[in-house]
Amino acid sequence: MKSTIERLGTELAELDRELTAGPPAAPVDAATVREHLRQHYGNFDAPMPRQDVVDDVLRMLRRWSVHVVHPRYFGLFNPSVHDASVIADLLVAAFNPQLAAWSHAPAANEIERRLINFLAARIGFDPESSAGHFTSGGAEANQTAVIAALYRRCPAYTEKGLRAFSKPPTIYVSAEAHHSLHKAARVAGLGDRAVRVVPVDAELRLDPGALEALLAEDRAQGHEPVMVSASAGTTGAGVIDPLPEIGDICARHGLWLHVDGAWGGSALLSDRLKGFLKGIERADSVTWDAHKWLSVPMAAGMFFCRHGRLAQRVFSLDTGYMPAVGADTWEPHRMSLQWSRRFIGLKLFMPLAELGAAGMAARLEHQAGMADLLRRRAGEEGFSVVNHTPLPLVCLGHPELAPEATRDFCDRVVAGGRVWVSPIAFSDDRRAIRCCITSFRTQAEDIEILVTELLDAL
Ligand SMILES: *Cc1c(COP(=O)(O)O)cnc(C)c1O
Repeated sequence: MKSTIERLGTELAELDRELTAGPPAAPVDAATVREHLRQHYGNFDAPMPRQDVVDDVLRMLRRWSVHVVHPRYFGLFNPSVHDASVIADLLVAAFNPQLAAWSHAPAANEIERRLINFLAARIGFDPESSAGHFTSGGAEANQTAVIAALYRRCPAYTEKGLRAFSKPPTIYVSAEAHHSLHKAARVAGLGDRAVRVVPVDAELRLDPGALEALLAEDRAQGHEPVMVSASAGTTGAGVIDPLPEIGDICARHGLWLHVDGAWGGSALLSDRLKGFLKGIERADSVTWDAHKWLSVPMAAGMFFCRHGRLAQRVFSLDTGYMPAVGADTWEPHRMSLQWSRRFIGLKLFMPLAELGAAGMAARLEHQAGMADLLRRRAGEEGFSVVNHTPLPLVCLGHPELAPEATRDFCDRVVAGGRVWVSPIAFSDDRRAIRCCITSFRTQAEDIEILVTELLDAL
């Protein structure tokens, strides 16, 4: 393994510079990739030297990927990654620690716990009485929130499932919420219709008045409202729902407050930005991805729950094959959807340890600063900013760009090979050019190139 890894190390050390010199994305068709795989690998009849395989995989990934780690990938929430995180993933693969049982992976489990406690405190949770764990992503964390909320309302849920409810349970999301919540409702057995979609206001924020009205209507219809999921950073526009008002409504109606901070939750690490998430400290549960704004490679999400003991009961099962729990330890397989667990936390632990909390916050603030610069520069060139958020996501319109032409416009911009942006259609049918500062490597000259490319494509 050694010589391959040494050579790979040299390649990877140059990767950022090499990818930055090229386009964030180059056109490719499926037939080309399939033909290459058919020719070179067929049905794996002939063994190949390891170095040849590595070289070919590198070539395929270079040519046939959208390079989300490129500083001018202004894309979906896919980040550039810390070098320390790449090293962490290599270590995890090599040691392959099994985190399902504490006794199998004391170092790994305690490292994750240290991290979770640190982050829980940033939310405003008491690390002693709350619980949290790493997940495959925000979708799994949102799924966990739905299950925890159903269980809290009706503890017989673990035995009888939804039959434990005398009235059909409903959950509430805004029209701009992430669709993983709809999926979570399907998996939990609630179904699509149990997801009640609350209209948004002119700034795309969940409208608390509309939520109140929908709750009253549903109660009158014989439904049982259980949970509200507020977004702290919507996927489309990065908009933060009015958390204090939604928290008040949840308190008044005895509803579980979930805050989906998959992307925006990371603002909690910056003293300058965390105030925008005020109200999150009242949540019953929080989704927070490390693999979005914290610049950790996929797959790394997190789930936090204010009610630590509840999180232990809902997933706990006795088996004859798992090691016994120690007096002052815990059994991760009893506390989460996952059973066998990868050591996800190390790829966040290592960059955090290397940069320090202040250094990590500086990267987040740099990205927020680059978005402020983009808002200013795009404004000076005649674009209008159509979303309102302090987070680094800028949605742009232009008087000369017809809304229905936005998709073609973005395709043209991407085809230019210098920047990657995407079209967005909001729930109120407005269209915009969505530009997210996903890379901590993005600099002022990259913003300038973006503005130039947008102007050229008009
Ligand atoms: C991305 C996203 C999710 C889904 O998270 P994954 O990590 O992709 O599973 C959920 N909610 C929001 C607001 C998101 O932006």
